[in-house]
Amino acid sequence: MPTSQEFMKIESKYGAHNYHPIPVVICKARGIHVWDPEGRKYMDMLSSYSALNQGHCHPKILKAANQQMKLVTLTSRAFYNDKLGPFMKLLTEVSGMDVVLPMNTGAEAVETGIKLARKWGYKKKGIPENKAEIIVCEQNFHGRTTTIVGFSSDFGSRDGFGPFPAGFKAIPYNDTKALEAAITPNTAAFLVEPIQGEAGVIVPSPGYLKEIRRICTRNNVLLMLDEVQTGFCRTGKMFCFQHDGIKPDILLVGKALGGGVMPVSAAIASKDVMSVMTPGDHGSTFGGNPLACAVATASLEVLLEERLDRRAAEMGEYFMEKLRSIKNRKICDVRGKGLLIAIQLTKEAGPARQYTEALKDNGLLAKETHETTIRFAPPLVITKKEIDRAVRIITRVLK
Ligand SMILES: *Cc1c(COP(=O)(O)O)cnc(C)c1O
Repeated sequence: MPTSQEFMKIESKYGAHNYHPIPVVICKARGIHVWDPEGRKYMDMLSSYSALNQGHCHPKILKAANQQMKLVTLTSRAFYNDKLGPFMKLLTEVSGMDVVLPMNTGAEAVETGIKLARKWGYKKKGIPENKAEIIVCEQNFHGRTTTIVGFSSDFGSRDGFGPFPAGFKAIPYNDTKALEAAITPNTAAFLVEPIQGEAGVIVPSPGYLKEIRRICTRNNVLLMLDEVQTGFCRTGKMFCFQHDGIKPDILLVGKALGGGVMPVSAAIASKDVMSVMTPGDHGSTFGGNPLACAVATASLEVLLEERLDRRAAEMGEYFMEKLRSIKNRKICDVRGKGLLIAIQLTKEAGPARQYTEALKDNGLLAKETHETTIRFAPPLVITKKEIDRAVRIITRVLK
């Protein structure tokens, strides 16, 4: 087999340079571990940005995929298939919501949510044509389409990709007063992440979600939660909003819904909101395909059967406590919820990148977000012993 060096070279030569990967080549994976062509073993503490909550190559999910591949993989929505209905029923049960619109990637789920909110604004709220506004938060991450990057505050995500669609207004995150002040009669929805993952695991103040729910309800504005990263047990509950006993009007999900095997996403909504979608309004060739639905159903069943919500809560608390006990002046904050955790480094510590590369050399894969934050989001099947090992590596590398 060619070496890691050779694989990196060929990828770099024939691929667009829209990523700056940690220099490691993965050719095999199981649970929380991955291996490179030289046979070196690493702990995966990124989980493909929380798309691998169930762990790599979960046997139940692989079995579902294999079985479905022998039957039928794609039908398009021109026809019904036997896997879509049961999958959507299960997804409404775990979310406590009514109706599902299946898509593939997270960005597509967000785009679907935007269309849904705007159409609801015109048809139900009575917003004048082309006047609908959606309020978003600064430092958001909702994906990479032109519409979505158009309301990003990250220069690199936007620069060179305009002109962008109008109709979005950004307010500071974790600021309920700013939300109240930004709402106008033309506001259709407030789109927000319950924890800002890409921004560096920014956890809002206690009571934030309850308060924004109250403000949205009082002003007849839809609360649209992007749980693409926080969903599916990552923060210690099936969905992050369940910590606060609230419910969104539109819920956007993706990543771990596909169990790390397939891209599967969805916009989930109340019956009333989803009723504005009629045949021909929106769609996707691959959305709701039977292979994806079989995989997603198994992925949800794994989360439920293995109680990965409780596991994430328990292991997350354990992990954070251990990280907080590291005595090192380079660490100025440890924050997170469940197994979505970040270490904030001081300015003096220098770029986080040097540490993520050193972690890799010590058998631990994690990724920096922005200059000075390292995120740890291992598969939820991680054990205490493995966390102990990770903390030993992190302690050593930061020294
Ligand atoms: C990853 C992510 C997305 C985009 O998902 P893709 O599958 O990469 O399109 C959207 N929102 C959040 C919060 C994410 O973390």
